[in-house]
Amino acid sequence: MNQIIIATKNRGKAKEFREFFSQRNIEALSLLDIKEQLPDVEETGNTFEENASLKAEEISRILNRAVLSDDSGLVIDALDGRPGIYSARYAGEQKNDEQNIQKVLHELKDISEGQRNARFVCVLAIARPNGETKLVRGECEGRITLSPSGENGFGYDPVFIPDGYQQTMAELESEEKNRISHRSRAMDKLEDLIDTLFI
Ligand code: IMP
Repeated sequence: MNQIIIATKNRGKAKEFREFFSQRNIEALSLLDIKEQLPDVEETGNTFEENASLKAEEISRILNRAVLSDDSGLVIDALDGRPGIYSARYAGEQKNDEQNIQKVLHELKDISEGQRNARFVCVLAIARPNGETKLVRGECEGRITLSPSGENGFGYDPVFIPDGYQQTMAELESEEKNRISHRSRAMDKLEDLIDTLFI
C-alpha cells in the first residue's frame, strides 16, 4: 500500500488523516509512528500558510520524501481573529485543549450568542524533496457556544457549532465531521496532487 508521511504529532489530526487516506488506499503515517528522531519544527511564521510550509519542508528535507503538513486553527471574529495561528498553545506551551477552551470562553463572556461567529481554517502543505511545495486551504464556518459539549474530535470541537447544525463538532460522528470540516475541504482540493505523489 502507498504511504504518506504527515508532519504532525497531534493525535486528533493523525486520526483524521488516517481516515481520509484509508478511503484512498493510502496509509498515513504521522510523526508518532516514525522511529527516527525528528525535531519539533518551530512555528515561527505569521500565517497558517507559512507555518504549514515550514513544517512540511523541514521534515521532507530530513526524510528525503514527500511530506504533508497541516496548520490549522480557530479564527473568532469578536476576538479579532484570535486564537488563529496560536490555537494549539493559546493558554500556554503545554498545549492543553481544555485550558484553551476555557480561555476562549472567558474572553467571549460578554459577547452575545449572535456575535460569536468563527471559522476553523486548515492549510495543507505538500513538500517534496526537490523543494517544490503546494498549498491548499479549507474553511468551516460556525459559531462558538456558551459552554463545551460532546466527547468526539479534539481541540475546540466541543465549543464549535458548524453552520447548518445544532450540535457541536464534538457531538457529531467522526464521519460527519470528516464530511464538512475545514480539513476535509482542504483535502478535497489536494485530490489531484495526491495521485501524482506515487507516480
Ligand atoms: P497546529 O498543530 O499548530 O496546526 O494547531 C492546530 C490547533 O488548532 C489544534 O491544536 C486545535 O487547538 C485547533 N484545531 C485545528 N483543527 C481543529 C479541529 O478539527 N477541531 C478542533 N480544533 C482544531
